[in-house]
Amino acid sequence: MTRTDAAAARAALAAWYARHRRELPWRGTSDPYAVLLSELMLQQTRVAAAMPYYARFLARFPDVAALAAATEEEVLALWSGLGYYRRARQLHAAARRIAAAGFPRTARELAQLPGVGPYTAAAVASIAFGEPVAVVDGNVVRVVARLLAWDEPVERAASRRAIAAAAGALLDRERPGESNQALMELGATLCRPAGPLCGACPLAPFCAGRGRGVAAELPRRAPRRPPQRERLVVARVERAGRVLLFRRGAGERLLAGLWELPEAPAGAGAEAALTARYGGRFRLGAPLGRLRHAITTRALEVEVRAARWEPAGGQVGGQVAEGPEAAWLSPAEAAGAPLTALARKALALGASGGPES
Ligand code: SF4
Repeated sequence: MTRTDAAAARAALAAWYARHRRELPWRGTSDPYAVLLSELMLQQTRVAAAMPYYARFLARFPDVAALAAATEEEVLALWSGLGYYRRARQLHAAARRIAAAGFPRTARELAQLPGVGPYTAAAVASIAFGEPVAVVDGNVVRVVARLLAWDEPVERAASRRAIAAAAGALLDRERPGESNQALMELGATLCRPAGPLCGACPLAPFCAGRGRGVAAELPRRAPRRPPQRERLVVARVERAGRVLLFRRGAGERLLAGLWELPEAPAGAGAEAALTARYGGRFRLGAPLGRLRHAITTRALEVEVRAARWEPAGGQVGGQVAEGPEAAWLSPAEAAGAPLTALARKALALGASGGPES
């Protein structure tokens, strides 16, 4: 793309954005805390799913100081259901750091905060502080790869450099926040992953992918490893209308601190594995249903079974001897607790009617 083309493309994009942008709750704010919150929530989450969480979060924690003063349990409970809980923990840690040292104002400084990568740092720096840095998120990668008819896998270092350079050329340095949001909006609404709407696109005259008829095939991706299939059994132990949950330890690599139903690899050794992991003694009963669940690179096939549990030493709550923290929760308590997504799905399967502990 020549400099003249880039200038014309910037103007066309800005005019389109002024007329067609969606009105979203985080649009129009330059409060860095609100921008950071929205950007972290929108990582791996659809706009429609993030919107109610964004409103609830801002109502409960209206500024960095309020979030920094909250407990991790409160933050996780409010995030519950949005998934990828690491983001909530990192947001909380970032708020504490900002409350102590002030809000970083440049992308380079913002990227030092927990959970803030180059994309989020550029978004906050440009939208909240007017720094002229281009955001290169998944939407931008797709749009630019199509504009350039870039034929190499976009994960490669040379591809990343070329795409970042083109995104930089498209950036309006006078209004970087609006400019970045315009390109992301174009990717989200017109230059969609399947079936780009080129007929309505303001960048169509500059788009090599469209010109060559290959836009829908781009961007090219490096082949991915297939997900690892695993079979799990999840034990649903009920007593007097309450269900037994365990809290994952702080040292767990994934989902640390969240509450889960006891789970173990399916098969003949499942009861022994449950007992070894959670303490007490498990007896599996009738199947209650099956579900599928994907987490990082694992594709789980899960059987939920009614179960009995005899706690070690007669304990039925709090710290089980030499095991993770356990609790009996009512349905209402479970709904408000920070649960793993798998536990939430398993609890949504019908009431057990199975054996009680
Ligand atoms: S013309 Fe089509 S492929 Fe090119 S940027 Fe616009 S929507 Fe995307």
